Amino acid sequence: MTAILSDANTATWMDRGACRSEDPELFFPISSYGDGEHQVRRAVSVCHDCSVRRECLSYALAERLQDGVWGGLTEQERLAVLRRERAR
Ligand code: SF4
Repeated sequence: MTAILSDANTATWMDRGACRSEDPELFFPISSYGDGEHQVRRAVSVCHDCSVRRECLSYALAERLQDGVWGGLTEQERLAVLRRERAR
């Protein structure tokens, strides 16, 4: 998400994120169930059309970001990616 700017490279791709024109809260649903499930689907659909999705996901995985939708994946999905990488 564009709210966190840690360095110049990060700011560069974040500036091009499709989420810049969205409500930031959309990407941080209270839960993945109930009303939150619809919110997650909307956030993920924004990410799917984002030109910096790959950079965003790499950043979230490298920084071990635990909350929110980043790079089109939920926190649970990112955790599964990290577990698969560790199992290799
Ligand atoms: S992939 Fe999603 S969260 Fe990441 S910059 Fe793009 S729209 Fe924002």
